Amino acid sequence: MTTRVLLLGGTAEARELAAALVGRPDTVVVSSLAGRVADPRLPDGEVRIGGFGGPAGLARWLAEHRVDVLVDATHPYAARIRSSAVRAAETTGVPYLRLERPGWTAGPGDRWHRVPDLAAAAELLPRLGRRAFVTTGRQGLGAFLHLTGTWLLVRVVDEPTVPLPDNVTLLRDRGPYQVASERELLTAHRIEVLVSKDSGGTYTMAKLAAARELGLPVVLVERPAPIALPATVTEVPAALAWLETALPRRAIGGPPGASSAAHG
Ligand code: NAP
Repeated sequence: MTTRVLLLGGTAEARELAAALVGRPDTVVVSSLAGRVADPRLPDGEVRIGGFGGPAGLARWLAEHRVDVLVDATHPYAARIRSSAVRAAETTGVPYLRLERPGWTAGPGDRWHRVPDLAAAAELLPRLGRRAFVTTGRQGLGAFLHLTGTWLLVRVVDEPTVPLPDNVTLLRDRGPYQVASERELLTAHRIEVLVSKDSGGTYTMAKLAAARELGLPVVLVERPAPIALPATVTEVPAALAWLETALPRRAIGGPPGASSAAHG
């Protein structure tokens, strides 16, 4: 019996999980991307691109494509699709797993200031430095554009659609990054403060190590508020193990037990 998995992606872990599943003769995996990035890194296997039209649209898609398992491996800050996925799984009865990497933990020498959102980050920023490196992405960039007294180096994957004031310098790039090049970047631009989401994982972690080495403060924007999730794992091997136990049970007719600890 073939199991159809819809994998909500846009992250390195989602690509890793897709790569591990595509070779399996008993599994068909379709990865889904939002279509935000012009030239996305595509996962192995089948890919669909674009929104579903909210929870109802996603529920319809699950039913129409006879999906057996829904895995949400989207980015920790992608709160709308996370909520849509939980609701669509609830209404259709399709077993659900959330794959979400943990946030970062401060170590000795880190000067982190955790703030609840981008607006709070923008408010704090001018008090910590006159030259900031902003790495929170293109979509929330508007939160920083009124800071005309602070010079901003903004790193994004795609060109922002909003006009940028003179105090903003754009840097187009995408991870993974290395500590040495991040340190060079911070030094070359005489950066005094770094702004980041608490994305977790290794892809974009090097900037934090570089900031620590240079003694720079970091404004870390907290993750969106947690919601109740039926089942959660933090790493790809654990997702594979969950699917391993889930799929045979699904094949004999019942939904998988939520063997992983549920947390938000
Ligand atoms: P979001 O605010 O949670 O989602 C906005 C809408 O985009 C959703 O309601 C959904 O549209 C659509 N969408 C999001 N992810 C989708 C997916 N994997 N497949 C199909 N539709 C999807 O998400 P976001 O923060 O804009 O992030 C968009 C994508 O970029 C996510 O897939 C995420 O994994 C990736 N990403 C985000 C960040 C970040 O910092 N937010 C960083 C790296 C990668 P409908 O309601 O029409 O279904």
